[in-house]
Amino acid sequence: MLRELQSLEEQHPELKEPDSPTELVGSDLEAGFEKFEHTVPILSLGNTYSTEEALAWAEKTIGPGQKINLQWKVDGATLVLYYEKGKLLRAVTRGTGQIGDVVTNNARTIRSIPLQLREAVDLVARGEVYMTFADFEKFNEESENIYANPRNLAAGSLKHKKSRETARRPLRWVAFDLHLSSDPERFASDSELLNFARSLGLPVFEDNRTIEFHGPGDLQKAIESFEEVREEVAFPVDGLVLKLDDRFRRLDLGFTAAVPRWATALKFEPDLAQTRVEEIEVFVGRTGRVTPRARLQPVQLAGTTVTYATLHNADFIERLGVRVGSTVKVSKRGEIIPAVEEVVDPGSGKPFEFPSLCPSCQSKLVRPDEMVDWLCPNPECPEKEINALIFFCQRKQMDIAGLGEKTIRLLYERGFLRRIEDIYLLSQKEQALSELEGLGKKSVQIILDGVEKSRQKPFRTVMASIGMKDIGPFITDVLIQNGYDALEKWLNLASSKDAHEVLDDMDGIGPDTASEIIQQLNNAQNRSRLESLRKAGLQMESAQTASALEPTMAGQTWCVTGSFVHFRPRDLAMDEIRKRGGRTTGSVSSKTTHLLAGAESGSKLEKAQKLGIQIVNEEEFLRLLEET
Ligand SMILES: [Zn+2]
Repeated sequence: MLRELQSLEEQHPELKEPDSPTELVGSDLEAGFEKFEHTVPILSLGNTYSTEEALAWAEKTIGPGQKINLQWKVDGATLVLYYEKGKLLRAVTRGTGQIGDVVTNNARTIRSIPLQLREAVDLVARGEVYMTFADFEKFNEESENIYANPRNLAAGSLKHKKSRETARRPLRWVAFDLHLSSDPERFASDSELLNFARSLGLPVFEDNRTIEFHGPGDLQKAIESFEEVREEVAFPVDGLVLKLDDRFRRLDLGFTAAVPRWATALKFEPDLAQTRVEEIEVFVGRTGRVTPRARLQPVQLAGTTVTYATLHNADFIERLGVRVGSTVKVSKRGEIIPAVEEVVDPGSGKPFEFPSLCPSCQSKLVRPDEMVDWLCPNPECPEKEINALIFFCQRKQMDIAGLGEKTIRLLYERGFLRRIEDIYLLSQKEQALSELEGLGKKSVQIILDGVEKSRQKPFRTVMASIGMKDIGPFITDVLIQNGYDALEKWLNLASSKDAHEVLDDMDGIGPDTASEIIQQLNNAQNRSRLESLRKAGLQMESAQTASALEPTMAGQTWCVTGSFVHFRPRDLAMDEIRKRGGRTTGSVSSKTTHLLAGAESGSKLEKAQKLGIQIVNEEEFLRLLEET
């Protein structure tokens, strides 16, 4: 949309607003970090998705005989290093371009950043913090949270409050630009300057190239040579940076409003890989939702081997016309699960017919009005039961070590587990369990210990893990905050005459959800399950967290949005608010007094700003917590 706006503004400059987004450069500033005013402006570059435009830029501004540098545009986070007499003095994020956050302690933990240069010079080195795909995948595997892409993880890591935490992240840094503060005119060209950087011990990519420009042909060839190997690059790149090599001529060319004329970025379209659909598989989840995915002929994409791509739902398949045997293009768009983007050749197979029967229990699938998904209506569908068990035992839920998907499937098959409540009967079957092939005494012990430990999980986790429709952590919290802090109270409420009215009145619950909650809590099967779980010794009352904490947030209503470094999941932040007597809500309304806004806060932040609600960021919030 920004590109569209740019081109509209070029055609109709008279309509351009002075505060147009095209004139603004984003900021990554965060409160809580010491600020530093960059001694050289940290520019952003004009960019284009079209090679032709990039060639036209070169023709117009570079001129024959001049040299152009080509560098990968790394998809990471900008970090500017300030060295004095060869010593790393400070590391500063890009921020607004003029003022950045000082993150020196975090930068010191990045191994590729030298603390001491080989020559005692004063310089400013601009570079990018990034992560290789291999490091990213390994980190994700070992991490409790799944990060969507290396860029977000790299940027977030840089702003970590504890350097010890940053040190754990496999970050790298590479230099792109150098400014010699002590002797700015020592080198006439960028390529010499970068060679000098390398000799000082600063990391510089080996594949940076400098070509002499004699017309678009040479440049195009050079661009193509980068594009050809782009898939093999070990880290995320989203384009190429093209720069005039001659630093003195740059001064003549100068700037437009926001960007230098002497450089441009040629951005790549998202990575696409072409392959064949070998099979279209459908899965039944714990809610009965049937989701299709494509099994692909394995293909390399953005540094990883891709074997599956999501197909979303029946409509998506139909719209795209994907069949078994189709040749398709898949993209990752920076995410972990790739998606089918387009069908290149549908192939000669039959059009895919979405199954009408559940692949697990053969029940006839249903599609409720206005829903895009097909559902298996059978409450005893094995695949639904298995996935409900998997969900209940997950780390984020009841966290039962030993009961992962494989073990759950085995125990289900052998009749040890069918429903959630069966988990708490396992201890009576210890002998039979340890005789099972594939389980040993040791793994049985791990399972039973995990089951035992889960009895201490708080009421809110228990209720949110059972998998009753609409009753997740958020609704559970709303009920608890409104005084319904025990199962008993929930059940009494559900069977009372004015249940609907009471629930609908609660901030965060609408009429439809109110009806669903009542229905779920009055459902006979759920009632008997809840009773079994209570008998099994699970926590059915909210432990009073009225600890020694002062109720500093009493009377306040907080909404929490965006993602956080210290509070993952963000429920942890809500817990802190409630521990201090505050209320939490899922939406911003006139009743909201504070918005805790993390990274990527969207509409809620805007709404809060409009309503004049106090907005608190993570750093300020941490300080508030420390005060109590
Ligand atoms: Zn089924």
